[in-house]
Amino acid sequence: MGMPEKEARCPHCGAATRRVHSRSKAWRRVFHGTVVGRKVFLRIRPRPFYCGSCKKAFTETFPGIEKWSRRTIQGEQEILSHLVGTSLHQAAKRNGVGDGVVRRVLKRRVMGEVPMEVALEGLSEVVLGIDEHSFRGQKMMITVTSLAPVPPQDLLRHRQPPLPGNR
Ligand SMILES: [Zn+2]
Repeated sequence: MGMPEKEARCPHCGAATRRVHSRSKAWRRVFHGTVVGRKVFLRIRPRPFYCGSCKKAFTETFPGIEKWSRRTIQGEQEILSHLVGTSLHQAAKRNGVGDGVVRRVLKRRVMGEVPMEVALEGLSEVVLGIDEHSFRGQKMMITVTSLAPVPPQDLLRHRQPPLPGNR
């Protein structure tokens, strides 16, 4: 894992600082994926820093781990990979997490992050599937899925609701 970085960059003003503000807080365990069937966790302890330029305190961040996240980006991608061809609930079960975790990861990782031009690149024709979902206690959401061109045998798979249990 290497030595800790000596300095951190202030998220408020961008200045580099070496002033560790106070004692580090407790260790955090973040999920990093599965290797030969075993869950791998990283133990991290972000240090609080104090920025001499703008006089604000901030907490160190690590590459590949978003602030407050209990999973690395790689760990999140593994959770999402279990969604292929199955339901949100099944994917959650396979990962040993709650449905809400998978839903949050999905929202953070996928929604709004795939530009339309990239999604449609290389397609000679486009068939869109438009679906309305409403998560319990949340706003109505409309998803637009590109369904074609896909081989006929794939159509059945695509006809299943992308997120069962939300109707
Ligand atoms: Zn600053």
